Amino acid sequence: MNLLALLQATFGFSGFRENQEAVCRAVTAGRDALLVMPTGAGKSLCYQLPAIARSGTALVISPLIALMDDQAAKLAARGLHVARIHSGLPREQAREACRAYLDGSLQFLFIAPERLRVPGFPEMLARRKPALIAVDEAHCISGWGHDFRPDYRSLGGVLPLLRPAPILALTATATPAVQQDIVTQLGLEQPELFVHGFRRDNLAIEVVEMSKPRRAEFIQQFLRAPGARPAIVYAPSRRAADELAQQLGGEFSASAYHAGLEPAVRESVQRAFLEHKLEVVVATIAFGMGIDKANIRTVIHAALPGSVEAFYQEIGRAGRDGQPARAVLLHSFADRKIHESFLDRDYPPVEDIDRVVRLLTADCEPAELLCERARMDRESLDRVLDKLAAQGAVQLALDGTVRLVDGFGWRSGYKVQLAYRRAELEKIIAFAETAQCRMAALVRHFGDHAGASRLCGHCDFCAPEKAQAQRFAEPTADQERDLRVLLRTLDEAGSKSTGRLFTDSRIAAGRPEFDVLLDGLARAGLVTLSSETFTNDEGREIGWRKVAITPEGRAAAFTPALGVLLAAAQEPSATRARPKKKSVRRNHDGIADLSPAQEELESRLRAWRKDVAARAGKPAFFVLSEAVLKNVAAAGPQTIPQLLEVSGIGPAKADTYGASICALCRGEQAP
Ligand code: ADP
Ligand code: MG
Repeated sequence: MNLLALLQATFGFSGFRENQEAVCRAVTAGRDALLVMPTGAGKSLCYQLPAIARSGTALVISPLIALMDDQAAKLAARGLHVARIHSGLPREQAREACRAYLDGSLQFLFIAPERLRVPGFPEMLARRKPALIAVDEAHCISGWGHDFRPDYRSLGGVLPLLRPAPILALTATATPAVQQDIVTQLGLEQPELFVHGFRRDNLAIEVVEMSKPRRAEFIQQFLRAPGARPAIVYAPSRRAADELAQQLGGEFSASAYHAGLEPAVRESVQRAFLEHKLEVVVATIAFGMGIDKANIRTVIHAALPGSVEAFYQEIGRAGRDGQPARAVLLHSFADRKIHESFLDRDYPPVEDIDRVVRLLTADCEPAELLCERARMDRESLDRVLDKLAAQGAVQLALDGTVRLVDGFGWRSGYKVQLAYRRAELEKIIAFAETAQCRMAALVRHFGDHAGASRLCGHCDFCAPEKAQAQRFAEPTADQERDLRVLLRTLDEAGSKSTGRLFTDSRIAAGRPEFDVLLDGLARAGLVTLSSETFTNDEGREIGWRKVAITPEGRAAAFTPALGVLLAAAQEPSATRARPKKKSVRRNHDGIADLSPAQEELESRLRAWRKDVAARAGKPAFFVLSEAVLKNVAAAGPQTIPQLLEVSGIGPAKADTYGASICALCRGEQAP
């Protein structure tokens, strides 16, 4: 079949965009397929053209009424026969759509997923099999994501009735795990997998570790450079957005944009930005949906975003015109804590949810009345109800009433969702902390392994000499010596966890300096760093970092010039100003000898351990053994992945005590 001719005749496009043709061929031939491409890449065409090529009716399942209406209108405007069935339409129109479908006079029938739960509806569809089934926004079927739609769950049971039509699942955002989930739940048979288009060749990404107090000043300075604006700065909270916008407003035309502003204000900010009357928008995540401004030169993240997906979506707004653009991500250990507290706030304990579930019945009841009985304020109750609704356990009506639909199924789904959110956080942290080609890492995150094999050539890893948000310098004589020690230590083993390498190499540098050295070795291609994960007993993904020597690294250890550049300190931060730690030596028990700073940490850990053990009514060694406590004090792990690298710390310990131990190591109070 000449798909190109059909494309031109039906849609008036001159040709296929990248990757569209291969997908269209597979689906036209009757293959199941999963298509993952970024928003705006042109996924819809990949079901629309095969639908026409296969003749008959395409059934399109779409979770958002607005999207459905938009697609249907566009197709109708091209003279195609289209009908929709969703809750926003009069009943008569739905009946008419069913009639037309059974007549075979439709080319496209769009339906909302909840329709498939209406008794008799799937059977009606099955009376005349569709020529093709498209499931748009297919990630909504996965209970792991935040867009989870319980209604999508019923798809897996219904689709077999409608076979043998090929099924095409489409989404802009699915990690390999979610991709697998989609395939399983929709029952795709030997699907072709298309993951494309995530690489952005004009985007230079820089990741900079920087303490919070320095960030505002840095951002202002960065945006001052010619060509740095127009810019979007993403701030972690409404208040932070307001404050930063005010500060930047002293030098540039800048405004805040967030959900706390009046719609009219938001509208005018958006318009001013689009019309080039505003140079900088400081936004929370609420900004940028549907923003189509081609010449954004910089996107700065003033804090770590909650997931790699969010980060990718947000930096994706830079450089749409194809001209060079830059993305700068600022982060530090403190960001993890903030995200963890967000998670604690947004995901109430299972017991709290349970308490509410036990109060609910199948009858509608005003949510208001529940507060008192559940002993919860309105905000907490709403959060609980929100989570229950997301799991399909309750129905929230527009009149403020709530009723129970299923009091049992929510538990496992909720736990999975929370574990997934935590894993997302670990992944963005690993992304920020691992020296690697930034673009390749993003592309790989979405499962495009072929695309990930090419380095971008202009991120802070590929081209440190061209970095604009940070400086890199030649190593000092001391650093040079330590670098060689690290290479030689690795030369024997080939690879180790980074924590092992730190202790085994016995260099004089402390952990933060060690990380800088490692980063420099990785940039120079002498070692590779990778994020590894394992799943613990509770199904939680735990990350750790592996460092492996490359052939170049083996050779370099014995040559005069290493060719390594090291990140120059951004600031005299607390950790960097600390006196150099004495190297960790081991006594005959294999327990580390400690420097004064480490001893101080050790005594704080000891006090904390005593406290925890007393509260649990257990002996102290039950919390941490003496040897492990010393190992922790020697390594000073500030993050969970670092903690996991400490000998004697397993996932169970890290889960139970990790937050407290890391806080103590960062010099903070244990939570
Ligand atoms: P996605 O679903 O991937 O976010 P859409 O399918 O909505 O993206 O397509 C985005 C835009 O690209 C639409 O306006 C569509 O008409 C246009 N488009 C898609 N394919 C082509 C093509 N081959 N040539 C020109 N424009 C195209
Ligand atoms: Mg789409």
